[in-house]
Amino acid sequence: MKNKLFIKNLSNKNPTKDITRDDIIYKIPKITNKKKITVKINNQISFSKKNLPIIAGPNGVESRELIFNVARFLKKKGIKILRGHSYKPLTFPYRSKKYLETQEIGMDWCDEVKRHLGMTIVTEVTEIKYLDRIAQTADILQIGSRNMQNLELLKEIANTKKPIILKRHFGASLRDLLGAAEHILVDGNEKLIICERGVSAPHTHRETSRFMLDIQAIPALKEICQFPIISDPSHASFWAPWVPSLSLASIAAGCDGLIIEMHPKPKESLVDPLQPLNYNQFSKLLDSCKKISKVMKKKII
Ligand code: PEP
Ligand code: MN
Repeated sequence: MKNKLFIKNLSNKNPTKDITRDDIIYKIPKITNKKKITVKINNQISFSKKNLPIIAGPNGVESRELIFNVARFLKKKGIKILRGHSYKPLTFPYRSKKYLETQEIGMDWCDEVKRHLGMTIVTEVTEIKYLDRIAQTADILQIGSRNMQNLELLKEIANTKKPIILKRHFGASLRDLLGAAEHILVDGNEKLIICERGVSAPHTHRETSRFMLDIQAIPALKEICQFPIISDPSHASFWAPWVPSLSLASIAAGCDGLIIEMHPKPKESLVDPLQPLNYNQFSKLLDSCKKISKVMKKKII
């Protein structure tokens, strides 16, 4: 149920970067609908009031060996959703010689992982021209933070009717985020999961940390939006040692899922080597997540 007290206390000033009562009635009525939404991915997995799915994997698919290695590890740990990002947006255009965007061949490896290990795959769609290939394999399509308001891309992705993860842009208000989400719902796709992944802030506590996880966005979104809200502490902090604290804080704040970047040898990750957890760190975090999620009456899957 939408929090009535909250809505009564919303101001009705216009225009604003914050959500007004009029917005809820006229601009974002679908995404703020009262009905609690469960997003079913397949027979094994749904994002719901009771479940807390963890999505994990390396930054990019990189190689067949890597993606199989990670998928086997995750399967043993009971984690079902794999980051299978074969297409990568990069902040700066100069790619190191090692950098490899595996694209179609990466999707072929993801296909094999699905067939052999039964993993569920999330892949980011960076451009419309890649959508057909990605949608053949991926079970969940990710809209990256940079594309949050790329409305043509949103429309095409919504039209596939596949589950979608919409990441908040690092400079977007919740009003803008929910506006983008409303576009997806208007385009007829209700299998929507919203992801907080850190925002730009005047300072981020250390040089290597690019964004700041907006923990407060989780309860703020949950106050008016009944769709699953997940958190990506890896992209927010950009710094592996902080990922466990931020993951646990996200669960305590009420999130409905996590995206955790991990790699068997983080230092060898071809992109953002400071942010993945190694297997041991991931295993420890998983144990702690299970404890906190029990308090929150949610099951890690
Ligand atoms: C990612 O998940 O790999 C990614 C690029 O995330 P974001 O869009 O949040 O930067
Ligand atoms: Mn990334």
